[in-house]
Amino acid sequence: MAKALIIGAGGVGNVVAHKCAQVKEVFSEILLASRTKHKCDAIAASIKHQSLTTAQLDADNVAETVTLINDFQPDIVINVALPYQDLSIMDACLETGVHYLDTANYEPIDEAKFEYKWQWAYHERYKEAGIMAVLGCGFDPGVTGVFTAYGLKHHFDEIHYLDIVDCNAGDHGHPFATNFNPEINIREITQKGRYYENSTWVETAPLSVHRPINYPEIGARESYLLYHEELESLVKHIPSIKRARFWMTFSENYLTHLRVLENVGLTSIKPIDYEGHQIVPLQFLKAVLPTPSSLGENYQGQTSIGCHIRGLKDGKPKTYYIYNNCDHVQAYQEVRAQAVAYTTGVPAMLGALLVLTGAWQGKGVFNVEQLNPDPFLEKLGTYGLPWHESINTSQEFED
Ligand code: NDP
Repeated sequence: MAKALIIGAGGVGNVVAHKCAQVKEVFSEILLASRTKHKCDAIAASIKHQSLTTAQLDADNVAETVTLINDFQPDIVINVALPYQDLSIMDACLETGVHYLDTANYEPIDEAKFEYKWQWAYHERYKEAGIMAVLGCGFDPGVTGVFTAYGLKHHFDEIHYLDIVDCNAGDHGHPFATNFNPEINIREITQKGRYYENSTWVETAPLSVHRPINYPEIGARESYLLYHEELESLVKHIPSIKRARFWMTFSENYLTHLRVLENVGLTSIKPIDYEGHQIVPLQFLKAVLPTPSSLGENYQGQTSIGCHIRGLKDGKPKTYYIYNNCDHVQAYQEVRAQAVAYTTGVPAMLGALLVLTGAWQGKGVFNVEQLNPDPFLEKLGTYGLPWHESINTSQEFED
């Protein structure tokens, strides 16, 4: 029996709240807090739980978060607000001695920079305080790290090549929309591509490297090399890796819209003066795009995310693929969310459950691949994300 404070009432927060409420024997009390309280109330109204309350919170304000934590006395804080809030929520957890979990690494608001260094810097202080921070426990980052750790534990002596592949083959019916927070999503995609090879990072022009990749039950989809934050932690924690890359699918239609928006300056994060007000073009664009949480109702099709791994077992080369497919319609029927929010929210709930039940223990700051993958993958299917593996069958990444 434990108390969880969930911060953030967007697409992912909705799923985390629903999934925690389904496991009442662990999450006996839930407080859902966010910047806009009526969004918390709307989510709470759609959930049956005897002890789910809501609160208004500006999580950029450490003192405010500390007060809320002291009042509610949670056993864990699940941060599914935006990456900008990570450090202030980590500070509040440190001050109050409460475990912390998130799904995306900290980003400074004025610079699209994806690095774990700011959060890793909390390790000693969390260790001294005797509390645990679990970083990046969504799907990617999150399940992809657990998949890789599971591959290493059960199928390889050494992992040499890792290709994380992320396909959304769904159709929401809008000409252009993003599946999670538009600002965060577009900051990520418009960055230079980057992958790890032979101990160095290789940079590529944004979306310039692409190839068709086969996804189970979906088929071949054009996939683009991106930098994704779990690459940094995975190559640190699994030093035998010689190359690590991340691929994501985009439709031609999506890329055409993105190109136009970039060309007219609407994806910029540099403030401009508009009629005497400072506005950030990307934040304005976010305000006119459909909210990710509104996409679920008419979404058809599946997501498919997995890890292609190559390495050595007993001195012999081995290939391994481990993945999950998630159906947008089923996700909507269960928790009124599209599959991208669902595949992020389920692992966040499960990671919190493992911390609360002692299956994941540690003092300090951890990425998911540092933790035991077995209890996580034992339960992932039960909570809605069944996973599959194939051994020595994939020819996908022989190069
Ligand atoms: P949304 O924009 O839908 O929701 C974000 C929520 O955070 C909103 O309710 C917002 O409030 C709230 N919020 C923003 N600022 C503050 C603040 N200062 N104090 C309190 N609450 C605040 O985003 P998503 O649900 O799509 O994404 C949530 C997180 O999940 C993001 O960090 C994203 O990067 C991550 N993510 C991770 C994935 C993974 O696989 N690891 C995949 C997808 C997303 P308001 O309603 O007022 O704007």
